[in-house]
Amino acid sequence: MVEIDPWGVADIEDYTRLFEEFGISPFKELLDRIEKPHPYMRRGIIVGHRGYEEVLRAMREQNKFAVMSGFMPSGRIHLGGKMVMDEIIWHQRMGGDAFACIADMESHSVRGVSWKECREIGLNEYILSLVALGFDPEKGHIYFQSENKKLRDLAFELGTEANFSEISAIYGFSGDVSISHMTSVLVQNADILQPQILEYGGPKPVVIPVGVDQDPHIRLTRDIASRMRMFRVEQRLDNNQKPYISIREKQAGKEALDEVARRIESPKKVYEMHIDVFGIEESEIDRTMREIEEIVRAVEMEYGGYGFFLPAATYHRFVQGLTGGKMSSSVPESYIALTEPPEEAARKVKQAKTGGRVTVEEQKSLGGLPGECTVYELLMSHLIDEDAHVKEIFEECKTGKRTCKSCKSEAAELMFSFIKRHQEEREMAKEVLKKHELYKQWFR
Ligand code: SF4
Repeated sequence: MVEIDPWGVADIEDYTRLFEEFGISPFKELLDRIEKPHPYMRRGIIVGHRGYEEVLRAMREQNKFAVMSGFMPSGRIHLGGKMVMDEIIWHQRMGGDAFACIADMESHSVRGVSWKECREIGLNEYILSLVALGFDPEKGHIYFQSENKKLRDLAFELGTEANFSEISAIYGFSGDVSISHMTSVLVQNADILQPQILEYGGPKPVVIPVGVDQDPHIRLTRDIASRMRMFRVEQRLDNNQKPYISIREKQAGKEALDEVARRIESPKKVYEMHIDVFGIEESEIDRTMREIEEIVRAVEMEYGGYGFFLPAATYHRFVQGLTGGKMSSSVPESYIALTEPPEEAARKVKQAKTGGRVTVEEQKSLGGLPGECTVYELLMSHLIDEDAHVKEIFEECKTGKRTCKSCKSEAAELMFSFIKRHQEEREMAKEVLKKHELYKQWFR
């Protein structure tokens, strides 16, 4: 049995394996660098990240950065989707330019949902809840993929750097997969890179909050973003183990390479296809690397390139279904929708799988298993603000002071109030959107 803490997870070993296999870094290593981390960060609900340091640096230095994630309009908005929305909203409040995509092209091509349904589900389930939870539509961007011409143009362009075999290998596509389904993968890549196009202020660090199972999309997009670059900038060691920086021209041409050389003041040697910058102190290498990357990016933009930063990601852990096992949109008992009657949501909490023992006596003597309890997960992830209160529940459960009956009643009441309040806020969100120039056509 793996030892867990109030923010731990029962299947932590699975995550460790996942991290080792795919090179995801544990998120907790960054916690000290975040001034006011979101509860998902403090409580280990966000378990991992890829490249988030760059976003953090931008946040701390008040430089521009963005956050984006998407929602497939094929079912109801549930607590799993709320998690992503909360993360987008937190980054927006931290100063990020925020993008929320309704992935209707994906829903239509992958799940066969009609355009009309995509539209209705997108508006009435996802967009209203997003704004009700606190997304600022004045400052941020909400869009349907199918209505975004720039996005589709970018997807086409990205397609020049992706081929059939690699996409088939990543997504397990066989010969009978439709071309539209394959295209929707490129549209998702474009969703992720779109915040960096000129229309939105050009290249910047971008974070994509997603579930850990979405990592293949992130890795593919990072690969494509890197292939779209005109230069490759790398740190290397010479024969004496001294660091130097190599800038290799991939598709920019000699004139652009010479322009990069002209702007770099450090000692350097210019070759036909690359530049080596040397004489850098080890303590200065990261700073110099960033300066050179900025020079290269500026030249690349002048020569018609995109200058993409590799997109970063935060990964939240798997959300358990209320009935145990995976949450599934085809099993309504396994999830709580933000749009279902509050009484129904409370009922589901009362029937959810717990980590309690078979009898009250056993519970008192052995204590419960909060790490395996879906009710505890609801309390920790969505229903309780103060960390001290969550810790208290954890301790009381572990030591047998708490019974599942009273615990479920508390969680059910909190869920009832949360869903009721959220639905009132959804009505207010509709009024806000109706008055907004960009969005009023959606809610006539
Ligand atoms: S007491 Fe609460 S947290 Fe503990 S197992 Fe029962 S329902 Fe879950």
